[in-house]
Amino acid sequence: MRVLPLLRVGEVWVMRGTGSHRATKGNGGALPVLDRRRRGTKFVELPPRSVINSPESTRMGFWSLNPYVGCEFGCTYCYARYAHRYVVERAHDDGRITDVEFADLQHPRGLEPFEHRIFVKSRDAVLSALDRDLNRVRRRTTLDGPQSIVVGSGTDPYQPAERQYQVTRTVLARLRGERGFRIGIISKSPLVTRDIDILRDLARRHWLSVYVSLTCVDVRVIKIFEARSPMPHARLRALERLSGAGIRAGLIVAPILPGITDTVPQIDALMRAAKAAGAQFVVPIPLRLYPDVQRRFLPLVERHYPDLASRYRTAYGSTWNAPEEYVTALRQRFHRIASIYGIPESAAEGEEEATHHAARAAQLNLFANWPGEEDGGFERC
Ligand code: SF4
Repeated sequence: MRVLPLLRVGEVWVMRGTGSHRATKGNGGALPVLDRRRRGTKFVELPPRSVINSPESTRMGFWSLNPYVGCEFGCTYCYARYAHRYVVERAHDDGRITDVEFADLQHPRGLEPFEHRIFVKSRDAVLSALDRDLNRVRRRTTLDGPQSIVVGSGTDPYQPAERQYQVTRTVLARLRGERGFRIGIISKSPLVTRDIDILRDLARRHWLSVYVSLTCVDVRVIKIFEARSPMPHARLRALERLSGAGIRAGLIVAPILPGITDTVPQIDALMRAAKAAGAQFVVPIPLRLYPDVQRRFLPLVERHYPDLASRYRTAYGSTWNAPEEYVTALRQRFHRIASIYGIPESAAEGEEEATHHAARAAQLNLFANWPGEEDGGFERC
């Protein structure tokens, strides 16, 4: 029997094979290709065995649900690339893809696999898996009280593929048949407003929070680090529409880029825009740089912010997390500015249930520590 080491994927722990991949059987069991785009992107159907990951399997303290593996937005700091690689390796290990497919999914010629090979969890399979998984969530609710489910903890549930495949919409529509969960949805995409009808229903039956993800309002920065994601004005407009529709919505400011988006003017501009868009909370999260992410991210810092490059290499040289003292300083700075605009720093503001606080803490533990102030912003590290 092979010994499988543990690999941490973002906050998801998975088992990864170390031995050579076993030979796959001809073309049997290939995953269906749903669509191809001219710029080389391929959408591959993935029948999931389950769709809601338990808190135990991810060690995140909440149930998580991701309709897609991979994301066309392709943000340079995205840590979910690990999960994509794992899914490809597991499909190969399971004999569901051939060696040729494996090579294409892992190293598409000249393209990044994470944003050009998107796995779409097939809707029919998702629905039957959901029924099974929701039984588990309900049972846990009976034992431990209201459960938290986060949609989009790994990849964006409203990425461009959702326009065509509508897996997220299907999942949310199914959750209308439940009651009493804590549901969080995280997205950078204004497409989330397409589902306002369902979100309204969910808000009546659950504690729903929509986290619009935006790291700053500086278009130049967005174009450098997440060029394919929606521009700030589109996300703020989405936030405004959600709030206007009576849906609890706010900003998740993730990740905050040291020396780039953590300055007082940057945070102030973002908080002003958030306030104007009706944000009911903000959640700041510092940058975490896994080795795979560093490979893509740091060259951009070197090219566009050469003065910061050596600081990044020093700060993240031996750890994935931002330095603790920086996290403390950033947290204080962010808190001070958000307070000026009267925006609470958490989706859970005003809630009393301890269960939710625990889940929230775990959720935001994506980047466990915070930046603080006085004023050890990264610039002074
Ligand atoms: S939108 Fe989210 S999931 Fe998609 S690439 Fe960016 S950070 Fe990753």
